[in-house]
Amino acid sequence: MKISIIVPCYNEEEALPLFYAELDRVTKEMSNYEFEMLFVDDGSKDKTLERLIEFASKDERVKYISFSRNFGKESAMYAGFCNATGDYTAVMDADMQDPPALLPEMVEILEKGEYDSVATRRVSRKGEPKLRSLFAKMFYKIMNKVSDADVVDGARDFRLMKREMVEAIVNMCESNRFSKGIFGWVGFKTYWMEYKNVERVAGKTKWNFFGLFKYSMDGITNFSNAPLRIATISGFLCTFLAFVMLIFVFVKTIAFGDSVAGWPSLVCIILFIGGLQFFCIGIIGQYISKIYMETKHRPHYIVAKTNKEDVVKK
Ligand code: UDP
Ligand code: MG
Repeated sequence: MKISIIVPCYNEEEALPLFYAELDRVTKEMSNYEFEMLFVDDGSKDKTLERLIEFASKDERVKYISFSRNFGKESAMYAGFCNATGDYTAVMDADMQDPPALLPEMVEILEKGEYDSVATRRVSRKGEPKLRSLFAKMFYKIMNKVSDADVVDGARDFRLMKREMVEAIVNMCESNRFSKGIFGWVGFKTYWMEYKNVERVAGKTKWNFFGLFKYSMDGITNFSNAPLRIATISGFLCTFLAFVMLIFVFVKTIAFGDSVAGWPSLVCIILFIGGLQFFCIGIIGQYISKIYMETKHRPHYIVAKTNKEDVVKK
């Protein structure tokens, strides 16, 4: 049995030695499995690649794929999935927030045969800014209401899955990628393992508030048409309201005669309708921009350097 471990790394020179030491320890304890460690260097600007080359020179299980620039974690994970050859495949972050020590337990659960994938979710958000937690909670609520990709609150990308699931993910070749949604969308029986939030060992997080906000919006538009429905429904309601008001004004004028009063309300109405139109055009624009990006069929990532023969490029 072979286990592939995908590790997306972006500017992780400080965390990588600690991570590799821990992964090495854990995998050596699991002596009846063969391992493949697929480190994906996502265009790091620090010494990440040097570190990976160094690991690879000492350990033949280490394979690295280095991108020509930063393509983002989603692309890095996709490159990993496309190149993983194991019977089981795991994705984990390089900062030890996804503890490698959980791996033996995860493998054990898959071995029992009942589940196709073991996913992890954190039950605490200790060490995270309050506002970020609040928005995250809201996002999961909305996402689950509006899409058929069920996304569990606190779910991490840290997962171990069987070959079938990896193949399903590789076949989802969309360029607007949202892995949390993709994992849920492909289905398969998933066991949820819970653990307390761990803070990263070294280095800094690559996320800021606006980055996360954009990511959550991508999540919703990638897996749901609900925003388009909102646009349609609000358009319909406005038309209906305008019709009722028209009748009201008409009857009032016949009964009580014409008067010029009422321009402030008119201004408000014009502004309201105008705003609503921009809002709806914006929503439609979001989807059109997604279509635009998809139709270009650009590669998901460009490999600049690797020690893997016949590396898969997608
Ligand atoms: N990462 C990446 N490309 C990026 C940003 C992040 O490959 O453009 C990697 C990063 O090196 C780490 C993982 O994705 O292994 C998670 O990143 P981070 O710890 O910054 O995210 P957080 O844990 O705060 O959600
Ligand atoms: Mg992290």
